[in-house]
Amino acid sequence: MFDTSKLKETRRVACHMSAETAQMVSALDKAAAVYALRGDSFAQGKAGICLDLVAKLEKYGSFASDKQREFAQKLITWSKPREEKPAMVADWGRPVPKLFKVMQRHAHFYADPLKLSRRNQDSLCWIIWNDQVVGKIEAERATVWKRKAEAAGTTALAVLAVIEEFEADPLGTAQKYGRESGRCCSCRRDLTDPDSIAAGIGPICATKFGGF
Ligand SMILES: [Zn+2]
Repeated sequence: MFDTSKLKETRRVACHMSAETAQMVSALDKAAAVYALRGDSFAQGKAGICLDLVAKLEKYGSFASDKQREFAQKLITWSKPREEKPAMVADWGRPVPKLFKVMQRHAHFYADPLKLSRRNQDSLCWIIWNDQVVGKIEAERATVWKRKAEAAGTTALAVLAVIEEFEADPLGTAQKYGRESGRCCSCRRDLTDPDSIAAGIGPICATKFGGF
């Protein structure tokens, strides 16, 4: 556990330190405080790294290398709150009323590496990515779990981007993926009929999207 009392130490600005370096010390101090208070895995250990850099700057008055300076800059930038970046949120949710309705007519739905699987006799659907469950669609809302998405080799943001595409235009997006892959999103069969290949979906499967 990081010792936050370290943050309260008074910083002495060494006389051999330039104004720029003094500013860096102050910024790294603030960054350390931010990292120390954040509980996410990205922040882990970074408070200590910031304070190590501060100690080095106070001792030597400058960075040992440009690389070290760049790294310090990055640590400061990363510590700043990033608004409008839903990927930073642990779990990410979105209303998906149209996709929810489409899924009530499907047991499975495929847009590799995305797969949606509805539980038998249930409205709940699992959101699967690379064969791993990364979220769910329940009560017309899609939720993607950040950690699960990362474990499946992607990000919550990337999964939700595909989900949102389907929500915006379920049939049109199924056709787009169908044309790209040559396989029907609805039943996963290869599209062989020339009309179906052109449409990106089979005629019977297309009716499962009706009216949404
Ligand atoms: Zn089909």
